[in-house]
Amino acid sequence: MKDLRLSGTRENGARTIVEVGGVRIGGELVIIAGPCAVESEDQLIRTAIAVKEAGANMLRGGAFKPRTSPYAFQGLGLKGLKILDKARRETGLPIVTEVVDTRDVSWVGEYADVLQIGARNMQNFSLLREAGKSGRPILLKRGMYSTLEEWLNCAEYILAEGNSQIILCERGIRSFETFTRNTLDLSIIPAARSVTHLPILVDPSHGTGVLGLIEPMSLAAIAAGADGLEIEVHIDPPSALSDKDQQLSPLAFGRLMRKVRALREALAAIDEAEDNRCANEKAIADIVAGPEDSVHGATR
Ligand code: PEP
Ligand code: MN
Repeated sequence: MKDLRLSGTRENGARTIVEVGGVRIGGELVIIAGPCAVESEDQLIRTAIAVKEAGANMLRGGAFKPRTSPYAFQGLGLKGLKILDKARRETGLPIVTEVVDTRDVSWVGEYADVLQIGARNMQNFSLLREAGKSGRPILLKRGMYSTLEEWLNCAEYILAEGNSQIILCERGIRSFETFTRNTLDLSIIPAARSVTHLPILVDPSHGTGVLGLIEPMSLAAIAAGADGLEIEVHIDPPSALSDKDQQLSPLAFGRLMRKVRALREALAAIDEAEDNRCANEKAIADIVAGPEDSVHGATR
C-alpha cells in the first residue's frame, strides 16, 4: 500500500495502544457498549449501569445522529452530551460519542473521551483534520464503500495533524445482500493487522443489523483477531428511537460478554502455550547444535 507514512506497520512491529481512562485499546479486550442514541437521562443511565454490570469497558451513545432521513430523530445534541457526562460520573465508564460537524469538534471533545467519526463521514477530510487537531482519541469507522487503503489514508489525515490516538472500527460494507443491513467484512481484521499498527474494533450491530447475528459475529470478530467490539445495547429495545431492530437487551448483552471473554481467554492460552513450545524447541535446537553455534557459545 502506498504512502502509509504514519499508519503503516512499524519496522520493529510495535503496535499502538490507545489509553483512555485506564482502558487500553489494543492492549486488552475492549468492549464499548450502549445505545444507538441518547434519548433521555433515564434511558441512558439505566443502560450504562446495565452494560457496566455486564463488564463493558466504555459507554457509547450518539448525541448527534447522522440519519438517512432528515425527518428521523437527529439526537439530543448538547443535552445528550450532558447526560453522557452524568453517566460517566455515575459509572466511571469513559464516553464514546460521534461528532458529525467540523464546527463542533472542539466543544464535543470536551464531553467525549473518544470522538467517533462515522462511516458516512470517513472521507470528510476537513472533519478528519479537525479531529486530528483536537488531540482526542478518535474512533474512525470504515466507510461503507471504502477499501482498506482509502480507510488508512483517512487515518493518515488525523495522524498528519499530530494525533496518533486512532482506533479503527469495521462496521460492514454495502453489498448485493439484502438479508443483512451491511456485509460485515471480517477478513479486514487480519488484513489491517498486517499493514497497520493501529488497533481495530468491530461493530457487529451496524455490521449486520440483525439481532440474531450480533453474538455469532462478535465471536467471529474476536477469533479473527479484533482488539474489541462496539455494540448497541438499549435498556428497552422496542422503544428505541433509532436502530431498534439491532439493539441488544442487557440480558442478551450479558450472555454475549461471557462468551466473548471465554473465547478470548481460550485463544490467549493457546497462543501462550504455542509461544512456550516454540521457545522450548529453540532451546533444544541450541543444545543439539552444541556450544559453537548456540547462544551461550556465541557469547563466550
Ligand atoms: C453509530 O455507531 O452510531 C453509527 C451511526 O454507525 P456508522 O457510522 O457505522 O453507521
Ligand atoms: Mn445505530
